[in-house]
Amino acid sequence: DTFESLGVQELLVNHLKEKMRIQKPTSIQKLVFSHLLVGEEGRDKDLFINAQTGSGKTLAYFLPIVSRILQMNVRVDRKSGCFALIVAPTRELASQIYSVTAMLTNCCHYLVPCLLIGGERKKSEKARLRKGCNFVIGTPGRILDHLQNTQVIREQFSHTLKYVVLDEGDKLMELGFEETIRDILNILHKVPVNADKYPQLPSRIVHVLCSATMQNGAAKLGDV
Ligand code: AMP
Repeated sequence: DTFESLGVQELLVNHLKEKMRIQKPTSIQKLVFSHLLVGEEGRDKDLFINAQTGSGKTLAYFLPIVSRILQMNVRVDRKSGCFALIVAPTRELASQIYSVTAMLTNCCHYLVPCLLIGGERKKSEKARLRKGCNFVIGTPGRILDHLQNTQVIREQFSHTLKYVVLDEGDKLMELGFEETIRDILNILHKVPVNADKYPQLPSRIVHVLCSATMQNGAAKLGDV
């Protein structure tokens, strides 16, 4: 199996091979691509990914998202709006995910990820949000803080937010973020969705839940 045969664009495949030394998809990537990449009607279902860190799970969900955006053949840039929110339990994990997204989007500079984590200066995060970004990666508390207090982030999610990824869902539960996640999702579900704006993308928010272990916590998050 190759990335090409899964339907990933040549631009991305070449970048993976030449710049990231990634030659072929891992098994979790093959599985996830078949769900997230094909945008046929009814195929954009919420997804539970049971995989450890190190299995290639970040690219498993992020590569199909970028691929879908490129597939549209529509001009997008950092001002077009934010397509995906990725929530991670710790600053370290959020930073790791961010670096994978930054490496991948290096092949298409007009797509910009943004990292929002506790401990960073909020002012500089706000400035970056104001410049625009297409993917937000962050920790729950800081994301909620911006959603409640930074108007520009809500504007950027309006009409374009199509994917919400909860990475290491088991750890999110363990660390007591259930309530924060619930608040985040409640705000996001009130953000207006315009299905006509990017008709090739999912018409509603697709939730992706990653977890290395439990089913219990997954069920809990699934209810949020
Ligand atoms: P993750 O499971 O997302 O934490 O990824 C762990 C590491 O695996 C990252 O440094 C990725 O760059 C790398 N990786 C992701 N996909 C592949 C692949 N298909 N082949 C080889 N390495 C990969």
